[in-house]
Amino acid sequence: MLDFKGKNVIVTGGSRGIGAATVKMFMQLGANVAYNYNKNYRAARELSEQCERYEGKLFFSECDVSDYQEVLQFTKKVIDQFGQVDILVNNAGIWEYGKIEEMPVDAWRKTMQTNLDSVYYFCHVIVKHWKEQNISGIIVNISSTAGQRGEAFHSHYAATKGGIISFTKSLAAELGPDGIRVNCVAPGWVRTDMSAKTLETEEDNIAALMPLGFIPEAEDIAAPIIFLSSPMARAITGEILNVNAGSVLCG
Ligand code: NAP
Repeated sequence: MLDFKGKNVIVTGGSRGIGAATVKMFMQLGANVAYNYNKNYRAARELSEQCERYEGKLFFSECDVSDYQEVLQFTKKVIDQFGQVDILVNNAGIWEYGKIEEMPVDAWRKTMQTNLDSVYYFCHVIVKHWKEQNISGIIVNISSTAGQRGEAFHSHYAATKGGIISFTKSLAAELGPDGIRVNCVAPGWVRTDMSAKTLETEEDNIAALMPLGFIPEAEDIAAPIIFLSSPMARAITGEILNVNAGSVLCG
């Protein structure tokens, strides 16, 4: 049930962190995987080299997910290469610091466009493709503990992640009759580039507040993404799967 041979997957923001771990896990399980990067060509290329040993097809290219035209071009290239898409993982995101009274309009908009507009762009394009081709696709969106309980000094980020949760539930209800499942994985702290600077000084304090007492690795998030994309989860839709060592319980 964890055999993805012949399945075509898009992972946004696949060049690093959770996205890269997800790309690798799908490849290990036989899938064909397409991912994008924003600026970090080197990381994207290194990942493709690491995946050369797997049988499935791999495609990556630059695509700024906050730009609808770029998303259209990227998804067209993927469909041209693979023929169709079966699974969409909306993972790309940014997490920036911002006191509300000092947060410029541009910073607010950049976070909205990168984290939330992008999820709409990809779902809009790929669901259209699924309906035209009569494909029962699967979407996994990446939210956060911040989307459920907010996050001081990251209100724009938390707003996008809360938006992703209600967007996920809406699409799950809307698309269930078409056989399309839509779920969310909600990490808390994860050891990636995104959190590296904070964890450098705060890891012990942060881990001490978490029920399981450790900071999850990117692979700990990739595995539940795989589960939700698999037939094992065929009766699950509209779900927010917390994968954060219990930290959502503790504020
Ligand atoms: P990361 O290590 O910083 O990697 C971010 C990925 O997103 C990179 O592949 C990056 O591409 C891509 N990206 C960023 N902006 C983009 C844009 N405008 N267009 C296209 N791609 C873009 O982050 P991560 O920790 O793996 O986070 C992945 C997801 O998990 C995010 O949605 C994040 O909010 C969520 N999350 C993370 C944590 C955590 O503690 N790490 C906690 C909760 C939720 P480049 O390599 O080209 O820059």
